[in-house]
Amino acid sequence: MRPQIAAANWKMNLTLPQAEALLDALLATSRTTAPHQQVILAMPFPYLPLAISRTAGQSHISIAAQNCHHKPSGAYTGEVSAPMLASLGITHILIGHSERREYFLEDDVLLAAKLDIALEHGLTPVFCCGEPLRVREAGTHDAFVATQLRNSLFHLPPERLAGLLIAYEPIWAIGTGRTATAEQAQEMHAGLRSVIARHAGDTLAATIPILYGGSVKGSNAGELFSKPDVDGGLVGGASLDAVDFGRIVGALKQA
Ligand code: PEP
Repeated sequence: MRPQIAAANWKMNLTLPQAEALLDALLATSRTTAPHQQVILAMPFPYLPLAISRTAGQSHISIAAQNCHHKPSGAYTGEVSAPMLASLGITHILIGHSERREYFLEDDVLLAAKLDIALEHGLTPVFCCGEPLRVREAGTHDAFVATQLRNSLFHLPPERLAGLLIAYEPIWAIGTGRTATAEQAQEMHAGLRSVIARHAGDTLAATIPILYGGSVKGSNAGELFSKPDVDGGLVGGASLDAVDFGRIVGALKQA
């Protein structure tokens, strides 16, 4: 079975004492019950070394960064590079989160470069895609998200695509409390899998985990994750509540 993943995105939240307390609480609540179930914690840069050391030896938990620069090093004051993250022991990285696209004007071409540098340094990208409300209302969401994939991912040879995770996050559902229905999520995930299959073949498309993101909570995770092409969730707000995030981990498919 494909990996089933609960990924937390803390965004730009918490002070160090708060981060330490939440990390400890999450370690206590985020128990998996099968080897294909995994937890990824994406946190602000300053807390990454702490998270790496606190989760050492817990093979079901991986630590992710939320961003990196697209160049390996150089005169880019204030930026953080993929080789720096890899040298800390980070294994995963969010790329293309809608907040990066919207507030930091990251476009498909820049995201393709970030994917390349992440993969080059052994980081597993969690590539985020998703449409704004106006596109959903116009009914062109399938084509919109397929274009995001084509523009940022399809320069990669199939063997490199195989190392990716995808998170479908409709922008109208992020941080709004408005979740896509399980049917809407399934429809989009199945559609993305066929777009990947046309580019790289059915076998590869069947192996890539596709997470759903957008107001996932303990109360709706079970229904969303029950859909065949929904392989878990990328969770913002609810990941700041260890008990609720534990319920989300508990909703991952068993088999
Ligand atoms: C996110 O940050 O990726 C996200 C989905 O946020 P929320 O769960 O708060 O909607």
